[in-house]
Amino acid sequence: MSQIENSGYKGEALRQLKLADCDIGDIIRVTSKSKVYEGILIPRAELGEGTIVIVKMKSGYNVGINVTKEVKVEKIGKGTKPAFASPSIPKQNPALPHVVIMSTGGTIASRVDYRTGAVRSAISASDLYGVVPELADVARVDTEIVYSIYSENLTQKNWTELAQKVAERIEQGVDGIVIAHGTDTMAYTSAALSFALQNLPVPVIVVGAQRSSDRPSSDAATNLIGAVKAAGEAPFAEVCLVMHESVSDIATVVHRGTKVRKCHTSRRDTFKSINGFPIAKVKNLQVTMETDQYQRRDPKKKLVLKPNFSEKVALVKFYPGLDPAVIDFYVEKGFKGILLEGSGLGHVSKFCFDSIKNAVAKGVLVALASQCIWGRVNMNVYDTGRDLLSFGVVPLDDMFPETGLVKLMWVLGQTSDVEEAKKLLKTNIAGEFSSRTLPQDKIVEGAQ
Ligand code: GLU
Repeated sequence: MSQIENSGYKGEALRQLKLADCDIGDIIRVTSKSKVYEGILIPRAELGEGTIVIVKMKSGYNVGINVTKEVKVEKIGKGTKPAFASPSIPKQNPALPHVVIMSTGGTIASRVDYRTGAVRSAISASDLYGVVPELADVARVDTEIVYSIYSENLTQKNWTELAQKVAERIEQGVDGIVIAHGTDTMAYTSAALSFALQNLPVPVIVVGAQRSSDRPSSDAATNLIGAVKAAGEAPFAEVCLVMHESVSDIATVVHRGTKVRKCHTSRRDTFKSINGFPIAKVKNLQVTMETDQYQRRDPKKKLVLKPNFSEKVALVKFYPGLDPAVIDFYVEKGFKGILLEGSGLGHVSKFCFDSIKNAVAKGVLVALASQCIWGRVNMNVYDTGRDLLSFGVVPLDDMFPETGLVKLMWVLGQTSDVEEAKKLLKTNIAGEFSSRTLPQDKIVEGAQ
């Protein structure tokens, strides 16, 4: 039976597809004035223009082509529709460490959804285990689906719940936890968990993938194996993020959860340690520590769970001409914290000064991190920085803005006393501050 009627196509696109006798899954050729596209016809998302046809190209990417009257659509082959069946779970080896993989969604837990044509969070943690059978040689794995959502849809409430679930598992005595996560906001979650889960006895590793596991170039397996290996056996006990070290499939690196940032939209080595270095590497199923400055694994340690985050915290990026009314807006709306993403060493224009003073006077905790990302704020060099300090703005040293934001949310989730909150904000909880500035040539992109 033809699926074309229920595939989401409409208008000119549907008319031309029917005319050429194309069905979902068929291989089609679309010839426009300037280009020829060939690939599998996949369904259309419910929303969108009636003239767009979506083709899955050989590269694995989906392309939307505008089908006007001048464009030719042909069927060039009958396609087999890919299907996904849960693979069988590998046998457990009781001698191996016990690791729990919690899945929250994202590409690592995705496959192509032939209803919408999009990549969809659809496979469970146990499917992941089945898809990567090598895991059976690395650990005894238990799996749990916590969420099945893209990471841009996670909120502070999810961080709280996730931290609580991790704590429950740790209390059961597991050797390590892996959290499969969408890469977009994975570093926010790793920072959040770093503050929420203190004095960890075992590692908690957040892991993702840039290419879904049903694509030949997927990085999911290498990343997952690295993460599970580190969770089960590494000597550290911190919240970390494991991803590809380079674009090739050779090794994964372990970044500290508060020092890592997504830096590239599509590369497999998108995550970089910022103002810090990866603490370990996993290569050929071997974990190598790259520093001796880390919290030790020790099953006797008692986890301290502090899972609350304030939702009343905003990030305001400074740019030339920023209207101070933006700052006033958050104050009026009852926000408790504002993180200013300042320029350079830590500046915002003098036109914002009155609004900042007003925010501080109203009891809003105003902190500042640099939008340079790399380096450290120093608000004592120029008048502007000194003025901001005199208004009570708290400089966040070498924390980059996203970690600074998450920390401000966490701090204001612990206390409503501004002075206490300030003190906590300046206390190094999970390696978010580095005591010394690292050699610049080693920390800039590409050097790690
Ligand atoms: N927006 C998706 C997410 O972060 C992208 C998928 C991915 O990077 O895993 O969940």
